[in-house]
Amino acid sequence: MNKSKLKTMRESFHILEERRNNLMEYEATKKLMDRVKKIRENSISNLDNLIKTAKTNFETNGIDFIFAEDSKKALSEIYKLVKDETVVAKSKSNTIFEIGLTTFLEDKEIEVVETDMGDRIVQLDPESRAPSHPIGPASHLNVEDIAQIVSEKFIVEIEPDPHAIIKVIKTDIINELSHCKIGITGANSIAAEDGSIILVHNEGNISLLSMQDLHIVVVGIDKLVRTIEDAISVVKLETIFATGTTVPAYMNVISSPSKTADIEQVLIEDMYGAKKVVVIMIDNGRSEASKKCRECLLCIGCGSCVVSCPVYNAVGYDFGYRGYLGGRGIALSRFIENEKTCFEGGLFFCTLCGLCTLDCPVEVPTNEMIEKLREDSVKSGFFHKKHYDIVKKIKKTGQPF
Ligand code: SF4
Ligand code: SF4
Repeated sequence: MNKSKLKTMRESFHILEERRNNLMEYEATKKLMDRVKKIRENSISNLDNLIKTAKTNFETNGIDFIFAEDSKKALSEIYKLVKDETVVAKSKSNTIFEIGLTTFLEDKEIEVVETDMGDRIVQLDPESRAPSHPIGPASHLNVEDIAQIVSEKFIVEIEPDPHAIIKVIKTDIINELSHCKIGITGANSIAAEDGSIILVHNEGNISLLSMQDLHIVVVGIDKLVRTIEDAISVVKLETIFATGTTVPAYMNVISSPSKTADIEQVLIEDMYGAKKVVVIMIDNGRSEASKKCRECLLCIGCGSCVVSCPVYNAVGYDFGYRGYLGGRGIALSRFIENEKTCFEGGLFFCTLCGLCTLDCPVEVPTNEMIEKLREDSVKSGFFHKKHYDIVKKIKKTGQPF
C-alpha cells in the first residue's frame, strides 16, 4: 500500500477508534464482552455437535445445508448452483474472499457484482489488491481517489463529493441487480439450534440479496453458536467494535425460504423473498485450528485489532491474508492455507506488542499465537535468513552486531 493510501487509512481508523473507545467504557459493553467470550469458547469446544445440529435444523426449516471440508468442494458446490447464470451479486464476506469465489466465477465468465459500497469501490480500483478493513474495505482511499476511480470506470466526470459518488455506484449496482437471480452472502453468525442465519449490515444490500430467487450463504464453522440469543449477542458486540455504534441499521434473521400460511394455514413457499436458501458451511482448516490454535477461532471479525496494530498502520493490507488482516489473520492463514502462506503474509512482521489483544472484544491472544506459530515455522524452515545470522552472531560473540 502506498504512503498516501496508508495516511488515508490511518485517518479513517482514527475516527473509528474514537467512536469505539467511547462505547468500550460502558458497563453494558463489558458485560456483553464477557458473555460473548463464553459463547465463543463454548462453540469452539463443541464444533462437531454444532455442525450436526445446524444441519438438522436448517433442513427441518427447509434450508439446504452443504458441508464443504475445503475451498475446492465449496467452489464446486457453488458452481453447480450458479452455472446457468451470467451474473451473480454478492455482499462483503471474508469467507467468500477466502475461497476465491469471485476469481473462480469470473474465470468461468460469470460476472460477480459487489453490492457493498466499499467493496464495489475496491473492486473498481485496479490498484487495490484487498480491502483494508473487514467492515470498511475502502478505508485506504480518500474521496478524491474514489471520485477518480469511479470517473474512469463509468467514463463520466464525477466531483469528489460522497453523495455524487454514491449515486453513481448505487444506480449501477441496482441496474446490475435487476439482471440477477442469485444473491451470495456470508453470515455474521449461525444459530445452530434454531437453524437461523444472522446477517448485519448498514446499507440494505444484504436484504436485497436475500430476496433474490436463490440465496447462497457461505460461512465458516467458526460462526456457529447455539441459539439466536447467542448469535444476536455476538453480532451486537461485533457492531460496537467494528463501527463504534451499538446496533447496525439492519439485522436479518433468515430461518427458511420465503413462505406464507395465510390461506387456511396451508404452507405455501415462494412469496416475496428467496425461493431457495442454501448454506455452504466451510471447514477449510478451522477444525485443525480448533485443536492447535483454538483462540484463533474466538474471533468475531470486528477488525478492531487492525485499527490498533502499529504494524498494520505502517504497512496496511500487506500484513494479512486476503480479507483476514493483521496478526490474527496471519495466524488463521496457517490453517486455511499452510506455513508458507503464513510466513509470506507477515508471520514475522508482528512486534508481539499485544495491543491488539487489549482492544479485542474477546481478548484473542494474537501475540501468543504468533510466537507459537513462529516456533513451528522455524522448525519447518520458514524464517528470515537475517534472523538466523543474528542468532548465530549472538551465540558466537554475545551480541547481535
Ligand atoms: S481478533 Fe479480536 S479484534 Fe481482531 S477481528 Fe477478531 S474479534 Fe475483532
Ligand atoms: S501483537 Fe502483533 S498483531 Fe498484535 S498489535 Fe502488536 S504487532 Fe499488531
